Amino acid sequence: MRLRIQITGWPRRAITLADTPRPHCPDCQGDGGHAHDYGDENGEYAGTEWDPCPCWDETRRWRLLPLPHRPRRLRRTPTDDPWATGNGYSNEPPF
Ligand SMILES: [Zn+2]
Repeated sequence: MRLRIQITGWPRRAITLADTPRPHCPDCQGDGGHAHDYGDENGEYAGTEWDPCPCWDETRRWRLLPLPHRPRRLRRTPTDDPWATGNGYSNEPPF
């Protein structure tokens, strides 16, 4: 088991600690599994099946820290702020 820090983008951006395949695994050569093309009854290509290698566990991951989708400061532009007038002065009546 080799744990790596990864940034995942789904379902939410997060810093994740995840298991990874052994880079010199004699079974998968670090690919993490084997892809098998399979066909339908006519011998036509019907898809690819993925067999994960037992040298790692792709379900073994922990989310460490969720990341915001965008920096918060982008939401605080003057046009989005109902109290901002855009010129730095208060818009309350001057009396
Ligand atoms: Zn392997």
